[in-house]
Amino acid sequence: MTSMDFNDIAGQEVLIQSLKNAISGNMVANAYIFNGPGGSGKRTLAEIFARAVNCKDPDNKPCNLCSSCKKTIAGANPDIIYIKPSGNSIKIDQIRRLIGDISVKPYESNCRVIIVQDGDKLTSESQDAFLKTLEEPEGNNIFILLTENYNTLLPTIISRCQVHNILRVNREDAKSVLSGLGLGNDEEIEFAIAKSDGIIGRAIEILKDKDFRRNPKEYEELLKVILEGGREELFSFSEKIIENKDDGIKLLLFLLSFFRDILVIKDDKGSEYMINKDISLNIIERYDKKLREESLFEIIDLIKQIIRSADFNVNMKNSIDSLLLRVLEV
Ligand SMILES: [Zn+2]
Repeated sequence: MTSMDFNDIAGQEVLIQSLKNAISGNMVANAYIFNGPGGSGKRTLAEIFARAVNCKDPDNKPCNLCSSCKKTIAGANPDIIYIKPSGNSIKIDQIRRLIGDISVKPYESNCRVIIVQDGDKLTSESQDAFLKTLEEPEGNNIFILLTENYNTLLPTIISRCQVHNILRVNREDAKSVLSGLGLGNDEEIEFAIAKSDGIIGRAIEILKDKDFRRNPKEYEELLKVILEGGREELFSFSEKIIENKDDGIKLLLFLLSFFRDILVIKDDKGSEYMINKDISLNIIERYDKKLREESLFEIIDLIKQIIRSADFNVNMKNSIDSLLLRVLEV
């Protein structure tokens, strides 16, 4: 279990305030739905909430220091129960077993918290069984259903839960969270945010995957094609390397770092400051000779603009093609 607390969650201020108010006002609901895409932090938030509900500190919940918090962080709190799919779904046997387990009082905490992961995967039978426990609240049980699309649940279940949507984190918040984790440099973080659509968990996965930093051989080929100045070749080549959005962003990130490298060379800062050490010196020198500093700044701005453009589903291939054409011209 995580030892993070509410302050570590970015971009969900309204939801967090409402959870905190519920705890301090003794108004914790019987059942919650935390809805949001995979990697958006639903589970982390549920775990922090579960810890806060039983924290013994009167003011700062979760304190992470009291016996209850410590036990929960260590994953040794018997009053926090996880339900997750067995195979493709959460089956009725699992729900029946759960109902048996929670019919007695919590072992040592005020409340027992049941976190249902992949709540969208409750079968309809399971939902029927589950509904009965929601209709007759046992008092000390708090249910948290984590879903990606809660509309797949029975309306009768939804109506008994307090529904909260986990919002996408804006670029600046995501950037500050990811920078704090020290998983990459600014460009890599920018790339991960763009690729993950602002879903922090996914961005972290991307940054942890070292593979995305390796330059495919085609990139060097592309740089040569641009130098040779053939428009037709350029477009058929970009066709080959950009099959989808991910390819497009990856290429953009490469171009951004490549042209920054050329700036570094121009400033005589020495090659140890270069990012793309795998591109041949000959190509780097030719670009250095061809491009004036103003053109480099213009290209870099253009690339940043495309990376930042909010909707990547807008034809990215076209934007990249016009970018490459611009590079070829200057
Ligand atoms: Zn505590």
